[in-house]
Amino acid sequence: MARRFPRFPVGHKRSLKHGFTALQQRRYHVMAARLHVFFVQQAERVVARYLGTTTATLEYPVWMGRLAWAPAVKETQPGELLPPEEDRRLQIVMVPDLEDQYIQSSHYAGQLVGADVPDPQDVRVRNFLLSAGARIVDINDTTRDDIALQLALGGERGYNQRQIARGVPQDNFPGLDATVAQTYRNRSDTIVRTELSYANAQATLDTYRTQTVEWVEVQDGDDCGWEDHDDPDLADGSFRTMDQADEYPIAHPNCVRVFLPSDGPPEGEEEEE
Ligand SMILES: [Zn+2]
Repeated sequence: MARRFPRFPVGHKRSLKHGFTALQQRRYHVMAARLHVFFVQQAERVVARYLGTTTATLEYPVWMGRLAWAPAVKETQPGELLPPEEDRRLQIVMVPDLEDQYIQSSHYAGQLVGADVPDPQDVRVRNFLLSAGARIVDINDTTRDDIALQLALGGERGYNQRQIARGVPQDNFPGLDATVAQTYRNRSDTIVRTELSYANAQATLDTYRTQTVEWVEVQDGDDCGWEDHDDPDLADGSFRTMDQADEYPIAHPNCVRVFLPSDGPPEGEEEEE
């Protein structure tokens, strides 16, 4: 038997959406700054590996210790500019904040449905961190592709090692340094917003599931589509099953989607304003 939930009045829905968003907003600035620094230091390491020089960035694994949740680091191939240890480094920068975000969002969602906050050791928290960890590897994979492109283009143009490493501004060639540091676009901001949205959505849905919620009412940007931003099936104000929500926790990077517990679409009546 599904639980019954009150239909939230519009003003209340708006403040609940704001509540979920504010939780992410507080963390966003600190995390984006931290990730920005990470990319700058990662660029130093990539350039040092490429040129065979050294950097002042601490060497792995001196500073990181052992982490129960982190997967084993794969063997590094000689000449690899972004070896697997970089995945672990990035996870160490991001995971503590994402875990905390997951717990906080679970607490907020739990207040809506009367659920307790999960223990950090709980399997649902671990499962979230596994999926976040995989997305973090994807972030480095994107950088790996960018590095390969820079190397290929630099080779084609006959640049020397130093030019490939540091860039050739008059040709609009960023080089390895600026490519990895992402100094020319807001990559760290988008990554942080996206990962915080994932944490928030996953925490919300996992929490509702413990209380046998079957439907959610979606709050989203005004013209945000359900499957992607341009989907004509609009997300905001729509009712979705939990399975549908699992499939599309967010529609695009920077998505502000939020899920409220619901009894499903109203029968035989238009949804009133
Ligand atoms: Zn959206």
